[in-house]
Amino acid sequence: MAFLSDTLSRVKPSATMAVSQKASELKREGRDVIGLGSGEPDFDTPDNVKDAAIRAIRDGHTKYTTVDGMPELKEAVADKFARENNLAYETSQITVGSGGKQVLYNALMATLNEGDEVVIPAPYWVSYPDMVLLAGGTPVPVEAGPTTGFKLSAEALDAAITPRTKWVILNSPSNPSGAAYSHDELKALTDVVVRHEHVWVMTDDMYEHLVYDDFAFHTVAEVEPALKDRTLTVNGVSKAYAMTGWRIGYAGGPAALVKAMAKVQSQSTSNPSSISQWAAVEALNGTQAHIDRNNAVFKDRRDLVVSMLNQANGLKCPTPEGAFYVYPSCEGLMGRRAPTGAVMEDDEGFVTALLESEGVAVVQGSAFGLGPHFRISYATATDALEEACRRIQRFCGAVS
Ligand code: PLP
Repeated sequence: MAFLSDTLSRVKPSATMAVSQKASELKREGRDVIGLGSGEPDFDTPDNVKDAAIRAIRDGHTKYTTVDGMPELKEAVADKFARENNLAYETSQITVGSGGKQVLYNALMATLNEGDEVVIPAPYWVSYPDMVLLAGGTPVPVEAGPTTGFKLSAEALDAAITPRTKWVILNSPSNPSGAAYSHDELKALTDVVVRHEHVWVMTDDMYEHLVYDDFAFHTVAEVEPALKDRTLTVNGVSKAYAMTGWRIGYAGGPAALVKAMAKVQSQSTSNPSSISQWAAVEALNGTQAHIDRNNAVFKDRRDLVVSMLNQANGLKCPTPEGAFYVYPSCEGLMGRRAPTGAVMEDDEGFVTALLESEGVAVVQGSAFGLGPHFRISYATATDALEEACRRIQRFCGAVS
């Protein structure tokens, strides 16, 4: 449509939409569909957080706040960074938006000029490349496949950096692979960035608290303090506190960048919901007991899914360090005939046939820039998960 902007025409519609749409259609037709596509915890927001929000309403905290977060929340975020990440940020270096998504978007809008490149390890969270495009930049996907545990190698990063590189986006633990970088793996990457003085790091730590088997989480500016002036440390309450609907994300970074990001927000959405901000204060300052409780459940589910998928004909599923996703390979089934009769040429063919014949909705790896894989979210009831894995086993066993 000629009326729409050129910028928008460069942005792809969400590739995950097709599967979700097909899943809803089948559900409407009365089919028994198990959805493993959702990127949010199935747990409820903790009661102390809900109570804080109700109190905020009763106490009349229902007006505009400072554009990029009220002082009480910025202080809670600064305390969190100091306590959990050993990072000292002033409140002038903290910004709060309506979800981590807005914070990432603000940063890209505030910094990218036409032709500026952003290095994005693939597989990546679906929104990074399109956000870069919307902001006028050029996404540069760099393969980080199963041979390196879905992690970017120092050599691949070094080779991807050009004079036009502005940002490198790191996401650990990762959506979609669940892979998380150890201290030494991050240090190998930060050593490369230190040498390229024009490059900044946007680290998306949204899944920080979802790690298993005693994995120790680390973040870029903590591992390499010399990069703190070139790093935006992005985080939020959505995943760790089961608060996806409350829409609070935050970041710490150099004051000038943070100010520029607030300018973008001031002319678009203004402050995030005042009530959600009070809820986030309680999430960060209050008890953290639910995190271990939820993680014990997530870990059991991860182990169940990995084990059942590895027993399925033609699938290979590595054990990820964190998040609530697994990212198995379906390479062993490519070119083969599904029970539906269709020949599966790529991972989209695999997920379509799986949905049609067994009613299990997963997302194709090509949506995340690396196939032939698919993503399963195990943030769903354990019984449903087990049944879904049984169906996947049956499907794979019936491929000819
Ligand atoms: N970053 C990653 C890697 C995500 O998976 C998500 C949500 O799915 C976000 C950021 C955005 O989270 P929020 O709900 O805080 O906007």
